[in-house]
Amino acid sequence: MDIADSIKINPATSTSAQSEVRRDIRHFLTETLAAMPPRAVRSWGEYSAEFSSRLGKAGWIGMTWPKRYGGRGRPMLERFVVLEELLAAGAPVSAHWVAERQCGPLLMRYATPALCEAILPGIARGEVFFCIGLSEPDSGSDLASIRTRADKVDGGWLINGAKIWTSLAAKAHFMSALVRTTPGLENRHAGLSQFVVDMRSEGLTVRTIKNMLGSDSFAEVVFDNVFVPDDNLLGQAGMGWEQVTAELTFERSGPDRYLSSISLLTEMLDHANAEDRHHTVELGRLVAELSNLRAMSRGIGHMLSEGKDPRLATSNVKDLGALLEQRTPEIAHQLFGTELRVAGSSLVRTQSHLTQAAVAFSVRGGTREILRGIVAKGLGLR
Ligand SMILES: Cc1cc2nc3c(=O)[nH]c(=O)nc-3n(C[C@H](O)[C@H](O)[C@H](O)COP(=O)(O)OP(=O)(O)OC[C@H]3O[C@@H](n4cnc5c(N)ncnc54)[C@H](O)[C@@H]3O)c2cc1C
Repeated sequence: MDIADSIKINPATSTSAQSEVRRDIRHFLTETLAAMPPRAVRSWGEYSAEFSSRLGKAGWIGMTWPKRYGGRGRPMLERFVVLEELLAAGAPVSAHWVAERQCGPLLMRYATPALCEAILPGIARGEVFFCIGLSEPDSGSDLASIRTRADKVDGGWLINGAKIWTSLAAKAHFMSALVRTTPGLENRHAGLSQFVVDMRSEGLTVRTIKNMLGSDSFAEVVFDNVFVPDDNLLGQAGMGWEQVTAELTFERSGPDRYLSSISLLTEMLDHANAEDRHHTVELGRLVAELSNLRAMSRGIGHMLSEGKDPRLATSNVKDLGALLEQRTPEIAHQLFGTELRVAGSSLVRTQSHLTQAAVAFSVRGGTREILRGIVAKGLGLR
């Protein structure tokens, strides 16, 4: 079965169990967000350890995971509903987001039971956060060229090198790091391994980097003889490339890849003039495209829950999602140019934030060109 069949089986309508989940999470969000200080812009990219902890305590993090790891064993598409509602509300979820989206599933697949028991319940409670250590100063798109290495020592490994553009490294408890364990192999994809690294390890330095929004969420992470115990190796040494490319499926297919600008769409709908054809056509087109992306993303959720490999489809969702999201602030400018001159309104603040933030949407998690290369390869074109 491919994505088209999955979409047919899973139309973008919800089952009654999913509708119930939607009602419950909306209720939670209304109450919880109202009790928190007001924010200038509603965006899931904001960090709030307090919000993550409340969300986790209420059982909304890791809800598909087994109970022994703090989860509730719920179906993948119920989690999808929760993600949609969190993103639509612009909830500040970035503290726990990657831990739940990809590190938890990675651990469940490859970590020892002891490591899973030590880490996963904390993620599900919304108290343990991860960062992802892939990119390096000279290796971004060409990930197979990474040079950070781990050398075997008694009882573990010593890591030396540097990662860069590591989101939220300064606030994370752990990193899932891809490093080279066998250097000098002709096949650059061989000899890579994944480790869970404790961010408090001796020899590990985090240097934050400011982005153009003024946030210091990025960091360079330098490893100087950082010791990692054997138990923190994920899967088998040398299998890191296969593991990490499968992990990227989780990063590229979810609703965060097309709902990062949803707050601007809702602002536009609030200000829209139903008598103006330009407004109805442009906003109608945005909603229609979003609805297609949603159907594709739900289809991928279904494929994942059936253990299928949706690599090509995820590359399409991320690419099309980024295109849509980068067009959204431009459309806001075309439709509401006059209103946007009224400084201080929530439409202006949201448009201004997304104009700057959206630039990164086609870079994070793999650039547009790299994703299109994956699709071309899958179609046998290269
Ligand atoms: C918001 C954000 C968050 C991020 N968070 C993380 C994180 O948490 N952890 C992490 O490890 N990394 C993170 N990154 C880094 C991100 O993964 C890299 O920036 C990205 O993979 C590109 O690598 P690069 O910056 O080295 O650019 P380069 O690889 O140097 O690419 C530069 C340009 O060349 C193009 N290009 C490169 N190779 C090819 C090719 N073969 N064919 C065609 N065109 C090509 C690219 O598409 C791009 O346009 C983040 C980036 C952003 C923007």
